[in-house]
Amino acid sequence: MLTQVADATHVHTSGFVLSNAVLVEGTAGALLVDPGVTSSEIDCLAADVGALGTTVVAAFSTHPDWDHVLWRPALGDVPRYATARAADTMAGVLRDPQTLVRIADHLPPEIHGQVPLELLGLLTPLPDATTHLPWDGPRARVAEHRAHASGHAALLVEEQGVLVAGDMLSDVFVPMLDLDSDGDPVTEYLAALDLLERVAADADVAVPGHGTVARGPAIGARIALDRAYVHALRDGEDPDDPRIGSSAPQGWEWVTGIHEWQAERLGR
Ligand SMILES: [Zn+2]
Repeated sequence: MLTQVADATHVHTSGFVLSNAVLVEGTAGALLVDPGVTSSEIDCLAADVGALGTTVVAAFSTHPDWDHVLWRPALGDVPRYATARAADTMAGVLRDPQTLVRIADHLPPEIHGQVPLELLGLLTPLPDATTHLPWDGPRARVAEHRAHASGHAALLVEEQGVLVAGDMLSDVFVPMLDLDSDGDPVTEYLAALDLLERVAADADVAVPGHGTVARGPAIGARIALDRAYVHALRDGEDPDDPRIGSSAPQGWEWVTGIHEWQAERLGR
């Protein structure tokens, strides 16, 4: 089911960790960002696109994590863009013939055997210094940063006032730092939040990769919450954060484990 979040922008939410696919209607077809997770859900999305009377003509993956780079034949054969750094990272991962086996083996039990890995990660790199996606529709600004994953980028769909945030600004996940980064993951995450704050000044709606859609002042509140979490992590303090600990929503208690693991890895 597609939920309209702006004039020409719709969200399709997966049952798996509230993963959001975003569809933007263009002049002669639609842009699809982070298609979704299971085969049946992606096929459902493809049918929803058809029911809107359109087809997918371009796609974008916000970052090279398996749950953001999936695809199904029902979506058609179209360029699936990502930043050059993300596409390069993905290509490197796919050069290892064991990658797909490993991903398949480590899928959570509730989606085991249901994730289409055949077309995983076949990304088209955007030329360096690309500011907007090359497609015939509402202008979509690419905001690349170094948080969470190599080559991660948010998209600001300018005329729609929609920020597609990728794996940031979630109300179910705490910030997940790229602990394998060559740089300092804390500094990189804070810089990315500063960037998103500037970009979000032009947004009325923010769609996180996982979680619920934020509108208006709730966008700034999510940025502030994420920043406070990263500050606490940096300073070795216990974050006062509704996504973890005793205030974690029912069914999401395991997110506290992500926090504890990050705190341990950072040695704080
Ligand atoms: Zn994700």
